Amino acid sequence: MIIALISHDKMKPEMIDFAKKYKDVLKQHKLVATGTTGHKIIEATGLNIKCFRSGPLGGDQEIGAQVANGNIDLIFFFRDPLTAQPHEPDVSALLRLSDVYKIPLATNISTAEFIIESLK
Ligand code: PGA
Repeated sequence: MIIALISHDKMKPEMIDFAKKYKDVLKQHKLVATGTTGHKIIEATGLNIKCFRSGPLGGDQEIGAQVANGNIDLIFFFRDPLTAQPHEPDVSALLRLSDVYKIPLATNISTAEFIIESLK
């Protein structure tokens, strides 16, 4: 599977803990990520991840394009529900495309754990 990893700034510690906890599962798949999330996970886990641009600089849209092209199978997108994001239109566009193409997308750790447990 090709799995996309994205996290808003305040959610990055949670994403890094998630990646550490499920490293053995994640390493069996092809991983892509928005820039900052990807680099932080690589630093913390050594996982091999293709990093797109940072989310606010177009990374969410790049991942959206991959969804539209059939190149993403699953998305873990830890959103910050309490902070306004300058790139909210890009975030909404990615969520919309994942629904258009019926790509499973977890927006919080609880959903993410349900999904990743099923990959074990
Ligand atoms: P980042 O982007 O991983 O580059 O921080 C995530 C986002 O804010 O969409």
